[in-house]
Amino acid sequence: MKFILFFFIFYFIMIAMIIAMPLFLSFVCIATIVFILYKIYEIFYFKSDKFLSIKEEIKDYISDCNELNRHIEELKNTYAEFNQTDYGNANFIDNSRYQYKRKELSKFIKSQYTYNCSLTVCRNAQQQPFKYLCKYFNISINEDTLNEFETVFNNFSAAEQGKKLIKNKKYVILSGINNRIPFLIRTFSKKKLDKKLGFEEVDFKTVYFPKYTFRYISGGGNSSMKVDILLDLNNLERFINYLSENIKWRKSVAGQRALMTSSLREKIKKRDHFTCMQCGNSIEKEPNLLLEIDHIVPVSKGGLTAEDNLQTLCWKCNRKKGSKLQENNVKKQIKIANATE
Ligand SMILES: [Zn+2]
Repeated sequence: MKFILFFFIFYFIMIAMIIAMPLFLSFVCIATIVFILYKIYEIFYFKSDKFLSIKEEIKDYISDCNELNRHIEELKNTYAEFNQTDYGNANFIDNSRYQYKRKELSKFIKSQYTYNCSLTVCRNAQQQPFKYLCKYFNISINEDTLNEFETVFNNFSAAEQGKKLIKNKKYVILSGINNRIPFLIRTFSKKKLDKKLGFEEVDFKTVYFPKYTFRYISGGGNSSMKVDILLDLNNLERFINYLSENIKWRKSVAGQRALMTSSLREKIKKRDHFTCMQCGNSIEKEPNLLLEIDHIVPVSKGGLTAEDNLQTLCWKCNRKKGSKLQENNVKKQIKIANATE
């Protein structure tokens, strides 16, 4: 009885497979053909005059977008430019026999962002991150450090805001030409459309926030643990507060000096009516305009983070000002070099 049942099931499955196989194969065939046809259509569309004329029309908006994108990438690099020490390269090779390999030892990383420490230090760093960050990563608590971190915070805030604005900008440009782009291209070739129009890829990740790690690896290499301190916008703002509170002599100039915080940034923008103090461009005229906070007298020349030394600039004017300063510095350095020769 059981044998007959088994036979029937087997028989049923075989029949089903014989019927389904050609169906499946023909489905795969049709899908492949459709895919290839679509790709050919796509190639021809992107070469057509119709598409090229649309591209030509919005060329300036796109290059503006790309320029902002590059500016944001530069802002993200602010922190990497501070205190770089090159200690050189070395390889770690574990020559132990297979059974004796200590897996955790391979996690021993040498980097200016990683501190290999004892378990106690690791645990304490978790309790008081800022204190241990300063102590073990040689961040001295003084006015210069405070200025540096304020600059980083100011630039990172602008970068994060810029990313949102660039998204809106792109959306406005694309919705302007939406009904002239064929439905299929709009739906199935979104990324390619961006690329063909000339948009550079915008990196929305936040991996550029500096991350400091305290890592404990046991001597035998059998266990390890780590504490990560991520300096994202929230932590940076708190770190600025921490630094400020721990600079003792600063009390004498308190009152003149403010701390660069997100609320101060907003306050200055509001005071300046969300208008660039250089070219007069404003949020009202250009809704997706990136506004930045600028020190009128630069910090490098003794300017303070005080309300009367801060102004609102659009990203383009701020950029021009920055490059002019750099140019002056280079000229100065050349002059000094010439004088000493
Ligand atoms: Zn401006």
